[in-house]
Amino acid sequence: MVIARVALDVPVAELFDYAAAGHDLRPGHLVAVPFGRKRQVGLVVGLAQHSAIPDARLKRIERVLPVEPLPEATLKLIHFCSDYYHHPLGQVAFVALPTALRRVGYVAARASSCFALTAAGHALPDEQFPKRATAMRGLMAALRASGVLQESQARTVTPRAMALLREWADRGWVQQQLAETAQVPAAIATQGPPLTDEQQSAVDRITSSLGSFSPWLLEGVTGSGKTEVYFRLIEKVLAAGRQVLLMVPEINLTPQLEARFADRFPGARMVSLHSGLAEGERCERWLAARSGTAQVVLGTRLALFTPMPRAGLIIVDEEHDGSFKQQDGVRYSARDLAVFLGNLQQVPVLLGSATPSLESYHNARSKRFGSLRLTRRPAADPPRVRMVEVGGDLPPHGLSNPVFDAISGRLARGEQSLVFINRRGFAPALMCAACGWAAECSRCSARVVWHLQDKRLRCHHCGHEEGLPRVCPTCGNQDLRGLGQGTQRVEQALVERYPDAKVLRVDRDSTRRKHAWQAIREDIHGDRAGILVGTQMLAKGHDFPKLTLVAIVNPDAALYATDFRAAERLFQQLMQVSGRAGRADRPGEVLVQTRFPDHPVYRALMAQDFRGFADELLEERRRAGFPPFVFQAVLRAEAHDERAVEAFLARSAGLVAPSPEGVTFYDPVPATLARVAGRHRWHLLVQSGSRAALQRLLSAWRPRIAEGRSSRVRWSLDVDPLDL
Ligand SMILES: [Zn+2]
Ligand SMILES: [Zn+2]
Repeated sequence: MVIARVALDVPVAELFDYAAAGHDLRPGHLVAVPFGRKRQVGLVVGLAQHSAIPDARLKRIERVLPVEPLPEATLKLIHFCSDYYHHPLGQVAFVALPTALRRVGYVAARASSCFALTAAGHALPDEQFPKRATAMRGLMAALRASGVLQESQARTVTPRAMALLREWADRGWVQQQLAETAQVPAAIATQGPPLTDEQQSAVDRITSSLGSFSPWLLEGVTGSGKTEVYFRLIEKVLAAGRQVLLMVPEINLTPQLEARFADRFPGARMVSLHSGLAEGERCERWLAARSGTAQVVLGTRLALFTPMPRAGLIIVDEEHDGSFKQQDGVRYSARDLAVFLGNLQQVPVLLGSATPSLESYHNARSKRFGSLRLTRRPAADPPRVRMVEVGGDLPPHGLSNPVFDAISGRLARGEQSLVFINRRGFAPALMCAACGWAAECSRCSARVVWHLQDKRLRCHHCGHEEGLPRVCPTCGNQDLRGLGQGTQRVEQALVERYPDAKVLRVDRDSTRRKHAWQAIREDIHGDRAGILVGTQMLAKGHDFPKLTLVAIVNPDAALYATDFRAAERLFQQLMQVSGRAGRADRPGEVLVQTRFPDHPVYRALMAQDFRGFADELLEERRRAGFPPFVFQAVLRAEAHDERAVEAFLARSAGLVAPSPEGVTFYDPVPATLARVAGRHRWHLLVQSGSRAALQRLLSAWRPRIAEGRSSRVRWSLDVDPLDL
C-alpha cells in the first residue's frame, strides 16, 4: 500500500501517515486529510510503502487540491528552513502558503484568459482605427508593446477592453489563451539611462555568472543607481525566459518599484506578494509565479517561499534591513535563506545595500561573496554632513537654532526639509516635576508614551492605553511634564514656528489608515509639503526630489544601548536617512544635532565612510567574540510567573550538561524589555565558534526541551538572533 507522509500545520515535529490509495501523488501535493475531529490541508513530503500505523487504523487522504505540486526546490527550502531554525516542518511549510490554499475545499478559480496578438493583428496599418477611437488605439498599442495582454492589464487600458478584444478575436487579430498556459510575453525593455563604469562592471560580472550559483554583495551609496543594475540584470534574465525574485524590506516600497518596472518593461508581468493582499488576489499571484507566467515576483520576506520553476536570479534589496528576519513563529532570515535557495536553484543571489550588514560585509571581505561597489552618484554629489553640537539647555521641543535656521533657508528657496526623529508620539515620558514619578505601563517594564491629539498615554510594546492623569498619582502634584521628544512634539514646534508652511508628519500613527501613506507621498511629490517630520519610515528607499535638508534630531540615545549591534544599526539608519538629501541639481545637507559630535559613528557619517566604520566594528567584534565571528542561538521563554520562566530555562540548560565541546552556555537572564503584556521574558544564550557544532547541539537539545514542556511557559528557539 502506498503511504503518504504528510506535514500538517501543527506545533509538533512529526509527520503523519495517510493511505494514498486512489490518488496519483507526488511530494509537493497539497491534500485534504482528516486530523483529529477536523479536516486540514497537509503537504505531502514523501511516499512510503509501509507505515508504523496498522492498516486498519490508517486514515485516508480525502482529496488532492487542484494545484500543481510544490516544486522540488521549494520543498528542499522548506526542509532546510525547518532543520536550520529547528522549527516543525509543517509550520514552516504553511508559513508562506496563501490562505486560500489552506482550505480543504479549495477550488481553482476560473482560469483568467489573456490575449495574444496574431500575425494578422501585427500587420494592421496604423490607420485602421480613426484618431478619435482612443480606446481602440490605446489597446492596440498596449498589445503591440508586449505581444500578450492579461485580462486585468487590458482593463486598465480601457473599461471596454474585454468587448473589444472578443470582437478582435472574431476578426482573427488576437487569439484568446488561458493565462496559466499562455506563452510568456517577450520582455521588451525600454532604454534605461547610460551606465557608469561601476554599474557596467557590476552588470557584466553578475551576467557572466548567470546560470550558476554565486552570491554577490552590491555595496552602493544612495543614489548610485543600484536599481538600474537590478533592471539591466532583470532584462537579461527575462530575455533568457527565466524568472526573477526581488525582495524588499517593506511593503510601502513596492508601489514605486512596480511603477518604475512597468515603465521599463511594458508588457512583462510582475506580481507583488505581501501580507497586505486580499486572499484571492494573493493566491492568484502565487499561482502565476508557480506556473511561470509571472516573470518577476516582488515581495517582502515571505515572497521567498514562492515557488518559481524557472528562477534565474534572486535579488535582496536593502539586505541589511532587520525586517528580513521573522521575529516570531519560524524565526527565519529571508536574506540568509535566499543564499541557500540560490545554491539550490543554481542561480546568482545579489544582496544590495548602501550599508550592508556586517555579516554580509564580512562575507564579501573574506571572499565568500563576490564584492561589487558603486561609489558615485551619477545624479548628485554626496550630501554635506554637519554636526550641530548642543548642550543640556534645549527648549522642550528639542530643536536648536541652527536647525531652525537651516529649515528657514530651505523654505525661502522653496525646497523641502526632513526632520528625522525616530520616536512617534508627543513625549516618550510623562513625569511629575515634584517627586520624579514617571508614567509606566502596568503590563510592561516600559514607560508609556504621551500622544497629543487624543490625549492618551500609550504603551508602544503591548498596545495598552489610558487617559492622561490630572495629578501625580504618587504625590498629588498637578505639574506633570512631558519629557523628551516624539514626532508630534517636533511637528507642533514647527507648525508654531512656520504657520504658513505645510508640515507633514509621517510615522505609524499618521499612516495607519489604508491608502494614507499613498496620499502623503502624493503630497510630498506635489509641491504641498515644505517640512516633513518622520521616523525611519521616511528613511527607507523613497525618492523625494525637492528634499535638500535632513536634520537628525537627538540620535544619541542609541549610543548608550547595551546591544552590540546598536552602533551598526544607528549608522545604517543615519546613512540611509542622510541619503534622502539632495538629488539631481540640488546639493543636499545633513545636520546631526548631538551632544557628542566626536563620536566615531558621527565621524564616519561625516566622511560618508561605511567601509572604514565597518572595518573598525568588525575588528571590535572579532576581539570581543561576537557575530559574525561566532554563531549564536537563543532560547527565549516567557510566562506570567517569573519563577516558572527561570526554572524552565535552568532545567533546559541542565538537559545538555555538561555542554558539548566548543559550545558555550550562558546563564539565563531577563530580556532587555523584561516584561511585556504582563509576561516576564528571559532568555538563555548559546554560542559557538563552529556553526556545525552549534547545529548539532540544537538538534539534540530541541526535542528534549519540547518533551519537558510546561504549559505555562511559552518558549522559542531563535537561531542567529538579531537582538536579545
Ligand atoms: Zn509626584
Ligand atoms: Zn505595555
